[in-house]
Amino acid sequence: MKRKRGARFIGMLMVTTLLAAHVPLFVHAATLTNDKIRESEESKKQAEEERKALKSNLTDVQSILKSLEVSKSNLENYIQELDKQLDDINSKIDRLTSLISDKEFEIQTTEKELEEAKSVEETQYNAMKKRIKFVYERGEASTAEMLLSSKSFVDFLNKAEFITKISAYDKRMLDSYIAAKDMVAAKEEELVAQKAALEDAKVAVENEQNALEELMADKEKEITVFEGDITNKEAAIAEYEAMIAEQDQIIKAMEAAILEEKKRLLAENKKAIVYDGGQFKWPAPEYTRISDDYGSRTHPILGVQQFHNGVDMAAPSGSPILAAYDGEVIASSYSATMGNYIMIDHGDGLITIYMHASSVNVSPGTMVARGERIGSVGSTGRSTGPHLHFSVRLNGSYVSPWNYLS
Ligand SMILES: [Zn+2]
Repeated sequence: MKRKRGARFIGMLMVTTLLAAHVPLFVHAATLTNDKIRESEESKKQAEEERKALKSNLTDVQSILKSLEVSKSNLENYIQELDKQLDDINSKIDRLTSLISDKEFEIQTTEKELEEAKSVEETQYNAMKKRIKFVYERGEASTAEMLLSSKSFVDFLNKAEFITKISAYDKRMLDSYIAAKDMVAAKEEELVAQKAALEDAKVAVENEQNALEELMADKEKEITVFEGDITNKEAAIAEYEAMIAEQDQIIKAMEAAILEEKKRLLAENKKAIVYDGGQFKWPAPEYTRISDDYGSRTHPILGVQQFHNGVDMAAPSGSPILAAYDGEVIASSYSATMGNYIMIDHGDGLITIYMHASSVNVSPGTMVARGERIGSVGSTGRSTGPHLHFSVRLNGSYVSPWNYLS
């Protein structure tokens, strides 16, 4: 009974509450469920869209990486092609330069001969003037007098012969004078012709140099465009690191080969190269400035901190590269990043590296002396202008070249 009343009361209360609320409770609950479903459907849709966006982003990154890979290998091919062309032009310039020095030597020789011809001309001219003066001063009368004063016919004949000989001598002198003068004229003509040939050769060299400068400007532009195009920093940094890794791989292999050679020498009781601690010779004597120093720097395009493992010395293309110290050439080769490069072993784990040369004139195994010319400054490999990149390694790590340079 009590329960029934209670139940009726609850039932009434419920109705009252339902009426008071003005909102049908069961309808409200259904709406909530629908909202939840809609909400979850919404978030599912959103997640799907996000996944789609992520997927398309991923495709973008992959295509960027792919195009970077392609342009990187294209750039490397392009750099290699340009370096080949630079090599051709450099050897042409070398040929023309030696032609010019040959011509200059010929001109020097001709000028010496000209001096000699002039002195012969002067001597003979002076001698002839003396002779003419002598004959003139003595006059025809004295000649007749001399003949008439002959003591005998034989004496007369002798004197007549003497006079004939004197005039023949004068005639020879005159011929000789004319010949000397002709020689001088011919030499002068030859000199003029040689000078003209020299001028032609010089013009040809200048044209080749202009072509070389154009090629270098093209290369600089290409590299700048490529680096400017790189929007994906990570890919660019990876590319830079790959470049450094390539260099390190080559260099480390060389150092391992040196160690092997040292072991071999020790086994054979032969002396290995020893570094005596002396000061290095400045390797690019015609350098104009330090374009990039050794140490950490902020990459101008990528804006990240990077380590520059050498000193960049800006110098004219073709100017000498000198061996910094006595040693043995252990590498003289080409790589797409280092260009034409040379490595010298100075003993006791000390190695110097020279990069971006236009030409090299030493080969592995060559012993070089401090200050000896080993190549010419250039802009081969990953370089945007003629400079020498000079690195020093000690026991397998880069060290500051300034420890050895003054
Ligand atoms: Zn450098």
